[in-house]
Amino acid sequence: MPLVVQKFGGTSVGTVERIKNVAKKVKKAVEEGNKVVVVSSAMAGETDRLLGLTREISSRPDPREQDMVVSTGEQVAIGLLALALKEIGIDAVSLTGWQVPIYTDTAYTKARIKRIDTHRIMSELERGKVVIVAGFQGVNDYGDITTLGRGGSDTTAVALAAALKADVCEIYTDVTGVFTADPRIVENARKIPVISYEEMMEMASLGSKVMQIRSVEFAAKYGVKIHVKSSFIDEDGTWIVEENEEMERVAVRGISHELKESKITVVKVPDKPGIAAKLFKALGDNNIVVDMIVQNVSHEGYTDISFTVNKVDADFAEEIAREVAQEVGASGVERNDRIAKISVVGLGMKTHAGTAGKMFEVLYREGINIYAISTSEIKISCLIDEKYAELAVRALHEAFIENQETIVVD
Ligand code: ADP
Ligand code: ASP
Ligand code: MG
Repeated sequence: MPLVVQKFGGTSVGTVERIKNVAKKVKKAVEEGNKVVVVSSAMAGETDRLLGLTREISSRPDPREQDMVVSTGEQVAIGLLALALKEIGIDAVSLTGWQVPIYTDTAYTKARIKRIDTHRIMSELERGKVVIVAGFQGVNDYGDITTLGRGGSDTTAVALAAALKADVCEIYTDVTGVFTADPRIVENARKIPVISYEEMMEMASLGSKVMQIRSVEFAAKYGVKIHVKSSFIDEDGTWIVEENEEMERVAVRGISHELKESKITVVKVPDKPGIAAKLFKALGDNNIVVDMIVQNVSHEGYTDISFTVNKVDADFAEEIAREVAQEVGASGVERNDRIAKISVVGLGMKTHAGTAGKMFEVLYREGINIYAISTSEIKISCLIDEKYAELAVRALHEAFIENQETIVVD
């Protein structure tokens, strides 16, 4: 009997009516002869609401207690979904992360899954039940509840699909698949029928949060086939699979944008060895992930060092930068929260020259200044002013996707 893991995001279970709709979809999969494991997110807005409650009490909530609070959103959703299934004659059982158990490391609020014990799920499936697992949560070695970072239900689903050797992992969401750009911003965005793990990983890490990045890493590592599709419209979505030669025929697969970063600049640093090391070691020691780094050309023995971090870490990063600045005799620290990172992504860049030049030209034509650039084999990212983000995404989409013919290799 085929085994399918179906994950439903927050909007898909956002109201009681929608939960009933999900139950019907699950029933259909059961009636088609599948064993079904469902992963559910919290009802739309619930995780934000719970986080808000913790912040009303504490500006930097204790991470263990924060996880205790925010993990409850998923518990409500899985219980309601199990009830909805029973109402329509399908036997179902809901399980929290610790009931499965899904074992994680101890990094509260951003835990990683280490191991999944599949015995309980398998025996429930053998009894003919649909098993509904709470997304986004696990249990650590102390027996405490942990959460997997925002959007973490995707990772729960893919990890379960890998552990259970499921035939497919279906990610049901509020769009009909992965698009060439965020369809909320680019009206002409197109659905991508098939995308490689590598491209999806880049897009997810560059702001296309339709899938959590860790879930795609997991899928690539264990070869889990993912089908991203809509909860509301019944049509084929996007398959995320191994790369194939066909995929290099276009240089750019998609345009991503990220508004959740801040830029911090240490101004007028003495230009001598060891200073960057000191700054970035201090940030790393405090668990702050740095994204882009630019060191400006030195003037009369001084240089500026800029870097970007996630906005949630910006206060702390600024504090650390100020301490280091004082220690090394820099003239000060500046911070800009109104920046955007815009990226073009595509496997085809490996074999097609000229993408960077074209990207910079499109931005120049729109009068958009570039603060920083970073590249990898399959992406180019530019840091720009936040107010131009949508304009940049639309202009790049037009240049690279709408006006692009398929490039024939050879
Ligand atoms: P869920 O709650 O189902 O997990 P998310 O909000 O996490 O849903 O992800 C779906 C959203 O991702 C869409 O509503 C869309 O606005 C956004 N998104 C951003 N970039 C893309 C993209 N390239 N393709 C599809 N959706 C995208
Ligand atoms: N409910 C969690 C969040 O909002 C996890 C998820 O939806 O994937 O981030
Ligand atoms: Mg999501």
